[in-house]
Amino acid sequence: MKVEEKRKTGMYESVMHQFNNAAEVMGLNPEIKKILAATNNEIVVHFPVKMDDGKIQVFTGYRVQHNNALGPYKGGLRYHATVDIDAAKALAMWMTWKTSLAGLPYGGGKGGIQLDPSKYSTAEIERITRRFTHALGDNIGPDYDIPAPDVNTTAQMMAWISDTYMSTKNPLERSRFAHVVTGKPVGSGGLEGRDRATGFGVVVSIQAWADWKKTTLKDKKYIVQGFGNVGHWASLFMKEKGSILTAVQDASGTIYNPNGIDPQELLEYTQTTKGNVAGFPKAEAIDPSLFFGLDCDILIPAALGNQITDENADSIKAAVIAEGANGPISPEGESILSKKGIEIIPDILCNSGGVIGSYYEWLQNKQGEIWSIEDVIGRLEKQVLTSFKKVVDAASEYKTDFRTAAYIVAIKRIELTYNQRGVFP
Ligand code: GLU
Repeated sequence: MKVEEKRKTGMYESVMHQFNNAAEVMGLNPEIKKILAATNNEIVVHFPVKMDDGKIQVFTGYRVQHNNALGPYKGGLRYHATVDIDAAKALAMWMTWKTSLAGLPYGGGKGGIQLDPSKYSTAEIERITRRFTHALGDNIGPDYDIPAPDVNTTAQMMAWISDTYMSTKNPLERSRFAHVVTGKPVGSGGLEGRDRATGFGVVVSIQAWADWKKTTLKDKKYIVQGFGNVGHWASLFMKEKGSILTAVQDASGTIYNPNGIDPQELLEYTQTTKGNVAGFPKAEAIDPSLFFGLDCDILIPAALGNQITDENADSIKAAVIAEGANGPISPEGESILSKKGIEIIPDILCNSGGVIGSYYEWLQNKQGEIWSIEDVIGRLEKQVLTSFKKVVDAASEYKTDFRTAAYIVAIKRIELTYNQRGVFP
């Protein structure tokens, strides 16, 4: 999760390029296109936090709410040096398409703070997170805008957000607000299985792709960029399919073993290195610039946006790219991949397991229920497969690629709502 973003403002260009392309292919009503091309609210907060040395530092936090035609804004908060208003806008738009495609009663939002969390103590991160929550105030809420984990944010941080938000409410109503955030730890209203939901969904969609291609995942070689929550869980589930992990890249380095890297052993190693893969003894360190060109069948980018660009797309050998990350391929990179016949399982489908898990958590909290992990995993698999089928059908109806097809399914659902409700007043 620590691979540096190639170009800072590129993600917004990417999402607009994808949206404009889909709007053209589907013949989107130009009036509705105007609405969806804009973000509803862009919130920027500056807030002071006391550091461990007693000094005050002022942080800038973002929350962009793109669209809520289908329900409350939904999407993660990331803590990373690349967070800015353009990144938050792009990521919020992707959430709108993702929740719509998944058939959830949500819109899209995203936010975060521009910081490198490894530079702060746990106590500082707790105060930063609580103060950010306080600064956002009623810009978030369980029926209005529901954050969740994203790059560098954890279940523990979600528990702090939930506790801070609840603590500012009338004590008699406190528990009505626990689901202001999802991705909480299981002991604090979190969902069993939410931790693995994104990685699991990635592998369900890769399996669906393999079934559609009438092939199997057994003995297929795959490489993963990012070994955070998405990358490591996806690798563990790929292992269950009998696939072979041959290389992993993160900000600390790139490791390679053509005979296979055991994801479980690598996970245990990274638990001793603050998450870094560099130095794993059962693989060799290679030059990071060689990573995308490595021989493999499946490439799983599971780190940051704009990693696959015109600079490296031509070297890619994989038959399919499964987008665990949001926006990992730039439009220029994508056009090269398409000429090479490389298929893409688009982010808004491929990594939708996370927000689907969030939806189950939110429902569980609202209804005072506790779901078993078997229920969660079973429902999740069915729901991702349903989306996959919708995308395959739209791709054949519109004679287009999976990304454009996924956008069309997502946008149609929102278009229908606007057509039925009209625009106030
Ligand atoms: N951050 C995740 C995503 O990009 C999950 C969002 C959520 O659960 O709300 O989809």
